[in-house]
Amino acid sequence: MFMAWRKRAFLVHLKYRVRAIPFYGNRLFCPVCGMNARKFMHFGVVERTDAQCPRCGSLERHRLLWLYLRRHTTLFDEPSPQGPPRKLLHVAPEPCFEPRLRKMFGNGYLSADLDGSRAMEKMDITSIGYPDGSFDIIFCSHVLEHVVDDRKAIGELCRVLKKGGWAILMVPVTAGRTFEDPTVTDPVERLRLFGQEDHLRRYGPDYADRLRDAGFEVRTVGAGEIASAGEAERMGFAGIADKVYHCLKTD
Ligand SMILES: [Zn+2]
Repeated sequence: MFMAWRKRAFLVHLKYRVRAIPFYGNRLFCPVCGMNARKFMHFGVVERTDAQCPRCGSLERHRLLWLYLRRHTTLFDEPSPQGPPRKLLHVAPEPCFEPRLRKMFGNGYLSADLDGSRAMEKMDITSIGYPDGSFDIIFCSHVLEHVVDDRKAIGELCRVLKKGGWAILMVPVTAGRTFEDPTVTDPVERLRLFGQEDHLRRYGPDYADRLRDAGFEVRTVGAGEIASAGEAERMGFAGIADKVYHCLKTD
């Protein structure tokens, strides 16, 4: 299973490098991979222009998050050589982040996914097979909207995080208030109600309450607090509504 994941990651990397060649230029910049581009690729069911970096695959929200991580977190700080190595759990690993985080964390890096071929380890986040306080940092973005019992998953993520640790738990927020209906199982009906065939709910800004209920202290940060309007234009995330949900486990 581990080898399947390595092979897949290598092939994705190779494909992205080749497809990026005609996109090099000076108009846009990807803060994740450092590419200077004349344009980004279109992306989305409702197609968005300049959405996906051809070189690393980052979307608008990934570039926003990476910039946030650089400017407002300790992610890029070198760990103390005397201390134990930092441990990071990366759920449903985004191909644009995976190689960078793996390099940064070395043996402390663990990627996990419900589909074992997509990560180092097969994992159901509503039942995580690790003891309390196993990880310093957790990344789990655009996953919870696919999970039946998202409150249980949030509780598990909080449990396996160390006291003093932090997590990035982003979801699409597309409603004024969260609404869900577990009786809806038809993909067409899910698409109509929840915006995607495999989404189980629409989240509203009250999503942060679910995080707090699990014991997290939550910082909700929008693009305007992370980058100037000019930077947002140049990095291809101007007008993004996504927010970073930075969750701290303080006790
Ligand atoms: Zn990139």
